Amino acid sequence: MITDKMENKQRLVALGAGESGVGAAILAKEKGYDVFVSDMGEIKPRYAALLEQYGIPYESGKHSAELILNTDEVVKSPGIPDTAPMVKALIEQGTPIISEIEFAARYTDAKMICITGSNGKTTTTSLIYDMLRRAGLDVGLAGNIGNSLALQVAQQDHAYYVIELSSFQLDNMYDFRADIAILLNITPDHLDRYNFEFQNYINAKMRITRNQRPEDAFIYWSGDPVIDRELKKRLPTATLYPFGEQPDQDIAYVSGRNMVVAARQPLELPAELLSLKGKHNQYNSMAAAIAAQLLGISNAIIRQSLTSFAGVEHRLQYIATIRGVRWINDSKATNVNSCWYALEAMTTPTVLILGGKDKGNDYSEIDQLVLNKCHTLVFMGLHNEKLIEHFSALGYLPAETDSALAGDGSEANSSKAKRYINTHTLADAVQACYAAAREGDTVLLSPCCASFDLFKSYEDRGEQFMAAVRGLKI
Ligand code: ADP
Repeated sequence: MITDKMENKQRLVALGAGESGVGAAILAKEKGYDVFVSDMGEIKPRYAALLEQYGIPYESGKHSAELILNTDEVVKSPGIPDTAPMVKALIEQGTPIISEIEFAARYTDAKMICITGSNGKTTTTSLIYDMLRRAGLDVGLAGNIGNSLALQVAQQDHAYYVIELSSFQLDNMYDFRADIAILLNITPDHLDRYNFEFQNYINAKMRITRNQRPEDAFIYWSGDPVIDRELKKRLPTATLYPFGEQPDQDIAYVSGRNMVVAARQPLELPAELLSLKGKHNQYNSMAAAIAAQLLGISNAIIRQSLTSFAGVEHRLQYIATIRGVRWINDSKATNVNSCWYALEAMTTPTVLILGGKDKGNDYSEIDQLVLNKCHTLVFMGLHNEKLIEHFSALGYLPAETDSALAGDGSEANSSKAKRYINTHTLADAVQACYAAAREGDTVLLSPCCASFDLFKSYEDRGEQFMAAVRGLKI
């Protein structure tokens, strides 16, 4: 029977049997806990197989109170909100709820390099990981990317971890301490999980500095007004390493054509040599380079990584040039701010695909860039009404779909016209872009929205988009 807590053993329940929950359960089992895993949904076969392999009891499709509430501690998947009934019951009875990262960190002495922010986390995390690998360090990639930290600690611990942290993970971290913490930026996101209070979300992000000591590093974007305001309220204990555009104050900065990184022996290189393009990627590159310098990695290796890193899929990912038109997949741009930076990076007239599941977006943030760069907007979603309303008011007129799709050089394609095309499938959206784009243009999928109306995930959206674009070539 597993209903009763086993004598003398600490009990740990993992809520959610995804990467983090299963990883935590395996580590807990290895450390001698009495473990139970519960998932309200279906458990993916590979995770069920892992649980069976380790002899860990689990349930799916339900949360059994009698198996969950009699525990010492709970590791909660970041996807489960605090408003879920079982979580509420646990909070009410005072059971500690922690994140998988918090749990795993108890069992490793590795150096922790942690990255958070509203945008740029995966890119910066991957870049730092690339630098550490090139330097020959024993490093694991964890958090929202790759295998869970807990699984790595259980199976093959490393000397360094580069960890991407979402606000949801940070919410349930208490004793964790980052040796190097990076905060890239804070813009409104996920407000539905924060009582629609931006400050709650900001507080979650700022938790990355929690427990840091003076010998630890806090790397942050000095140009971010929200971070700036928070630092004026309360300065973290860690040593500060700001990056931005102020040579007199920032540890790393872009000034004119050059990027300088001076956390150690200064590294200077022309910004145009960075392999990741766009202003936002200059920030990501500076944050990564400061972290690498602090870890003692040579400037030669940092330079090598910054100038040759191939980027991460679905982030401003170049697909192909077809009849003189460049096609870019930025499917990961699931909020307005990330689309802003994608547009900022565009150097040619642009056909922009927008749409999907709107998370309460305010599109006015991109108005100016859209007006300056986009002659055609292609809306791709089940419900495009909000996009139509917003961009009509900005002066975009509906294209005659037939002529737009025909690419016949009619009004929809004339150089002055600002047009939008309303589509509800990926195939139609790609055809509309193909017809509307002129030689020298860029077609950019940077939709500002989540993908769940037409796709399984942003990855699925990006894959389907790339396949459709490659299909145009034939
Ligand atoms: P995250 O992991 O935080 O979602 P990603 O690295 O996956 O961030 O990038 C997501 C999108 O955000 C990219 O497609 C890009 O358009 C945009 N982006 C990347 N870095 C930044 C940044 N530093 N500031 C603003 N937007 C960014």
